Amino acid sequence: MRLALFGPPGAGKGTQAKRLAHAHGLTHLSTGDLFRAAIRQKTPLGVRVTELLAAGELVPDDVTCGIVADTLAEIGTRDFVLDGFPRTVPQAEWLVKHLAEAEAPLDAMISLEVPDDQIVHRLSRRRTDPATGEIYHLDFNPPPADTDLATLVHRSDDQPEAIQHRLEVYHEETAPVEAALRAHVPTVEIDGTGTLDEVQARVDAALAAVGEA
Ligand code: AMP
Repeated sequence: MRLALFGPPGAGKGTQAKRLAHAHGLTHLSTGDLFRAAIRQKTPLGVRVTELLAAGELVPDDVTCGIVADTLAEIGTRDFVLDGFPRTVPQAEWLVKHLAEAEAPLDAMISLEVPDDQIVHRLSRRRTDPATGEIYHLDFNPPPADTDLATLVHRSDDQPEAIQHRLEVYHEETAPVEAALRAHVPTVEIDGTGTLDEVQARVDAALAAVGEA
């Protein structure tokens, strides 16, 4: 099954994508993770996108579609879940065409809905373990008790100014993607509030409803 997880920053796409990947044997393709890895490794791509990510700006479409094309080529015929892509209407149009040419269209898009005020709270309390990639929320999904909190990363784009900007970018550039993809891909909207297990149960029910679980 080929899926796309859609929704604002902090909606839980990364966490739910990891769970879906684990439960259904999918490859997790996160453009944010790919860019952060490039930044850590200081590749030419990483150098080019460092400031964009820190400011919460989108990476240009040609660069983003290029890295997705390369990664999809590596994935081959394996099933996948997209997380954080597509984020603009041109990216959505590119993806539909690219997958149609490969005769491997998306089976479903899952749209996680979370109100803006909750997003701000979630992102400002989000921490990542750089060693495992695990994502935590200090209140609702805290790290194990023996974790040294100083080793966890508070992403630079999860600081208040960048969060506000990412939300603006989301409403202007990314929200219209849902309508653009809906014309081509079975789409389900999910309430993304509540616990991780509650959201996961809704995602599973939605996939069953579109015949994919
Ligand atoms: P994420 O981890 O999905 O929140 O992405 C972190 C950052 O990576 C975003 O704020 C953008 O700067 C960049 N990014 C991730 N995915 C995309 C995309 N599809 N298009 C453009 N920029 C992206």
